Amino acid sequence: MAQRRDQGQAQRQFATRLLHFNRSIDEATGAASTPIYQASTFHQERLDEAQEFDYTRSGNPTRQALEDYIAMLEGGTRGFAFASGMAAISAAAMLLSAGDHIICTEDVYGGTYRLLSTIMTRMNVETTFVDMTDLDKLKAALKPNTKAIFLETPSNPTLKITDIAAITAWAKECGLLTMLDNTFMTPYHQRPIELGVDIVLHSATKFLGGHSDVTAGLAVVANDSLGRRLKQLQNGLGTILGVSDSWLLMRGMKTLQTRMEAHERSARRLAEWLAAHPEVAAVYYPGLPNHPGREIHERQSSGYGAVVSFDVGSGERAKQLLGQVGIPLVAVSLGAVESILSYPAMMSHAAMPREVRHERGITDGLIRYSVGLESIEDIIADLEQALSF
Ligand SMILES: *Cc1c(COP(=O)(O)O)cnc(C)c1O
Repeated sequence: MAQRRDQGQAQRQFATRLLHFNRSIDEATGAASTPIYQASTFHQERLDEAQEFDYTRSGNPTRQALEDYIAMLEGGTRGFAFASGMAAISAAAMLLSAGDHIICTEDVYGGTYRLLSTIMTRMNVETTFVDMTDLDKLKAALKPNTKAIFLETPSNPTLKITDIAAITAWAKECGLLTMLDNTFMTPYHQRPIELGVDIVLHSATKFLGGHSDVTAGLAVVANDSLGRRLKQLQNGLGTILGVSDSWLLMRGMKTLQTRMEAHERSARRLAEWLAAHPEVAAVYYPGLPNHPGREIHERQSSGYGAVVSFDVGSGERAKQLLGQVGIPLVAVSLGAVESILSYPAMMSHAAMPREVRHERGITDGLIRYSVGLESIEDIIADLEQALSF
């Protein structure tokens, strides 16, 4: 039966592969979902023969199903599931050694910024943050001890676009490892390994899980030797994803394409509506005709995603809006079935000095809207009344 399901899997469309994957049906009973193997250890029938599973930190069939699933969706050789997005990113960062140097996109996720600027520095791994929309700035940051490049595109919260293929081509010339945080696009819209990236990282807490009910991280590698190294780190650091959360994540991922399509349809409508609104000073969305990175984004992604950021002009107006909206959660996080509105200046980027924040376009009036699956008419009507106060 397993063989029948595997046949021609690679040729199938993404929507089909989301539903029919290794272990998606229980081979022992035919059960329609992967069983949760709620066990920390496995009886060793014969001591002279290695079994596939011996201890859950090192491997568990439920987590393995998820890891194979994300590897297949991203087109990599091996996947890894971690306790959170930051646990996945931390494990990847630990591939570096004392004395190494990383070049990282300057508007990287706040947690990644913290990891690289405060924790990795204590391990004597230093990072230069650069504007990766400018290839010359990236090249100028190269040092003799540079070992890796960390990318995130579109960036958060101003949705700047980085040219993935141009950077991986240069990185290969220089012998640098490339890592990319693909949380905003998911493998439905963007598959970085096909563009030359070595390690793809996810906060699966966001779109992959999709329901604001699980915290998880995923990593996918492009080759076996990286797979062995990351496996050693996952097992050695012990920051694995639990089996129940592994199951919950697969449960959410099955509807990824349908959700992403609906999210995006609404996000485009919202971005266009905001762009025409007199109270809105600026709208950031890669699908808008005037977005400076639109052409590059369209080359490397099949869609624009669910996150729209916009500027209402001042911190006062932003706080007013937060108090008036009735549909979105006002919260950190994004990528859920329900809309989530966040205020970077006081939430995700509060720790950033004001001048640096402003320099990067994260003004006091900037709002980030993760468009959920509610009716777009209701979402717009809700914002309309909130903006008219
Ligand atoms: C949320 C997020 C992370 C961190 O993931 P956690 O699951 O919260 O640890 C990393 N990168 C991006 C782009 C995110 O949005």
